[in-house]
Amino acid sequence: MSTVTRRDLLGSAAVIGGWMALGMERALGQTTQPATTSAPASGPAPAGPYTLPPLPYGYADLEPFIDAQTMKLHHDLHHAGYVKGANAALAELEQIRRTGGDTIQRVGAVTKNLAFQLSGHLLHEVFWNGMQPRGGGDPAADSASGQALRRDFGTFDAFRAQFSAAATQVQGSGWAVLGYEPLAQRLLVLQAEKHEHGGAWGVVPLLVLDVWEHAYYLKYQNRRTEYIAAFLKLINWQTVEGRLQLALQMR
Ligand code: MN
Repeated sequence: MSTVTRRDLLGSAAVIGGWMALGMERALGQTTQPATTSAPASGPAPAGPYTLPPLPYGYADLEPFIDAQTMKLHHDLHHAGYVKGANAALAELEQIRRTGGDTIQRVGAVTKNLAFQLSGHLLHEVFWNGMQPRGGGDPAADSASGQALRRDFGTFDAFRAQFSAAATQVQGSGWAVLGYEPLAQRLLVLQAEKHEHGGAWGVVPLLVLDVWEHAYYLKYQNRRTEYIAAFLKLINWQTVEGRLQLALQMR
């Protein structure tokens, strides 16, 4: 069996490993809102280490389920904002380390914001790659993901019902997440509020659904359940299978 490193997971496999960072703030019992990131005091906005990958398809390719205008705004502005915010938060922490003094008081707020921005970046990348034109349906019955879904949820329909309910019932802005949980070596459906609250340490996201209003409001307004039903017709089960295969090698 080939050795899969954490770098492989964070890189070529569509950044699935970083979910391990999620949920920390909930574990710490912190409930305050994240601070707005301020750019470093001098110089241009940092260009890395995070970058915005292009969509794996055209803006209009998911029509009629997700409209081109929503896709363009969502990727080019919203997702880009999380990439920029994550880079800015890292740069600000470096600046704090260099400056010292009273700036150390900002570590908590900037760290909280880093979790928000980085989780937003990671989840959007998994989201884009989990969809394709003419997707949906069931995963291949003999694939690892197909077998695991039946083992852990009973039937594909039961999985879809639970995943859809999790997405519907996110309060406010957040995500539904199908993930691989390495301790019990099984699949789970989780919810994420905002981006970073509700994850469980070690769980690798395989398929995620963005239910922030920016993901659907132009086309669906308040009809989130219609948008969720549309997403089910776009699922790219091949990428879900690829992520699961990498997660299985990581355990
Ligand atoms: Mn989004």
